[in-house]
Amino acid sequence: MKMYIAGEWVGSDRSQSVINPFDGSIVDEVPLADASAIERALAAADRAALRLLNSTGAERQKIMERAGQLADERVEEIAQTISLELGKPIREARIEASRAGDLIRLAGFEGAQLYGQGLPLDAHPGAGKQRLGFTLREPCGVVVAITPFNFPLLLVLHKIAPALAAGNSVILKPASHTPLTALALTRVFLDAGLDPEAISCITGSGSTVGDRLCADERVRKITFTGSTGVGNHIARVAGAKKLSLELGASCPTVILDDADIERAAVAVASGGYANAGQVCISVQRAIVHEKIYADFLDALKPKVEALTLGNPLDVSTTLGPLVSESEAERVERSISESVRRGARLITGGERSGATVTPAIVADVDSSDALSQDELFGPAVAVTSVSSLEEALIAANSTTYGLGAGLFTENLSKGIKFLRGVNAGVLHMNWTPLWRADLMPYGGTKGSGIGKEGIRSAIAEMTEEKTIVLHGDV
Ligand code: NDP
Repeated sequence: MKMYIAGEWVGSDRSQSVINPFDGSIVDEVPLADASAIERALAAADRAALRLLNSTGAERQKIMERAGQLADERVEEIAQTISLELGKPIREARIEASRAGDLIRLAGFEGAQLYGQGLPLDAHPGAGKQRLGFTLREPCGVVVAITPFNFPLLLVLHKIAPALAAGNSVILKPASHTPLTALALTRVFLDAGLDPEAISCITGSGSTVGDRLCADERVRKITFTGSTGVGNHIARVAGAKKLSLELGASCPTVILDDADIERAAVAVASGGYANAGQVCISVQRAIVHEKIYADFLDALKPKVEALTLGNPLDVSTTLGPLVSESEAERVERSISESVRRGARLITGGERSGATVTPAIVADVDSSDALSQDELFGPAVAVTSVSSLEEALIAANSTTYGLGAGLFTENLSKGIKFLRGVNAGVLHMNWTPLWRADLMPYGGTKGSGIGKEGIRSAIAEMTEEKTIVLHGDV
């Protein structure tokens, strides 16, 4: 597979393998971009951004509609690619791929709705009615989009679709584990008639190409999703640019003593283990009222044990491998170290190659590393609390603030929780693992800055220009 730079599919002297984490087979090879490839991508993006300033919302929306149609037609092909390069169960990969068309069309619509506002300049002393003021929204220019491995389609589209729909050019740098889906999406936009220089998809290691892309002065906006460490590094390198950072998390779900235990157990059994727990809004922590603690564990255990580990391409598989064997080793170690510190392993936690059996770890202190540090693996740490107040303290105790969930039948307690948790996206009577592509989405604290969700992303990928018309003065 070649990468797409400055209007051309190109190779390179050096390449890297894309490995299927389930069986270790090589799925494909992609080029490792060198400095000259990056420079060509930047120069092309700069030229395209200037041309796109003259594009109309109607023209852009038409391209997005065609791209949405092509994404619909390619769902199965793209789902197979996601499953092969990431090890995501094919049924989850199909759901991910089938969201592409609507997401692109939504971006097309929002990109044609760049509303400004009228300014009440007569309220400025001395301005009277002789002046008119309003704002215009315009594309911000060259957008660099850097994406993680865990949702190789959705997290790429949540950046490139709004960027292109709003009239920007984009340089996409997908995760090294999952470049093939990103390249397939690049082809979707090109086949839909996008300006050939408006998108480049650079493959290669982020630690090699990242600084050059992020520091370049032609880039106006960096939109990054990934770990908190890399996000902080990018913020240091970027300088004065528009920046969105969607970073790490350790999301809590609180289950109070009046909750529907069965509903909560069903939701945690799916929200803690989807994509082998490699989801930023995964349920990492279940914070459970002591009165129902044992009943909740009894309800959760059979559901977690019923998850089917296996070949991701098999439709009966509900739990695939982690993205690599070293990630599986890290997750296995985090679980066993927590157990050594006094937690109780209810089920799972055994590794074979890149797979780890789905684990429930009970009696985890909320200060323990299994609660505090992002796990990104198929395990839920369960902690007992005696009140809503204690649950709030536990929920807020990490450096992260991406999502949180609460199960209760009591609206007043719900409101207290929703107001009291410091996180970007909150759910009552579900876990944080739920997302509609239209909703504002992003974290607080160490989980990042800025919001995604198509309308929010477009707001962050455009500039607001203030215009004043002066009459007789
Ligand atoms: P990483 O931070 O390791 O990588 C993310 C991207 O950054 C990859 O494309 C990577 O490239 C690139 N990168 C690495 N080093 C640099 C650098 N120095 N400069 C610029 N780019 C660089 O994250 P993962 O891919 O491992 O993804 C998992 C992380 O993503 C978790 O922390 C998870 O919480 C977070 N995430 C957050 C979400 C949110 O919405 N808040 C959603 C999904 C995931 P390469 O692969 O080549 O190293």
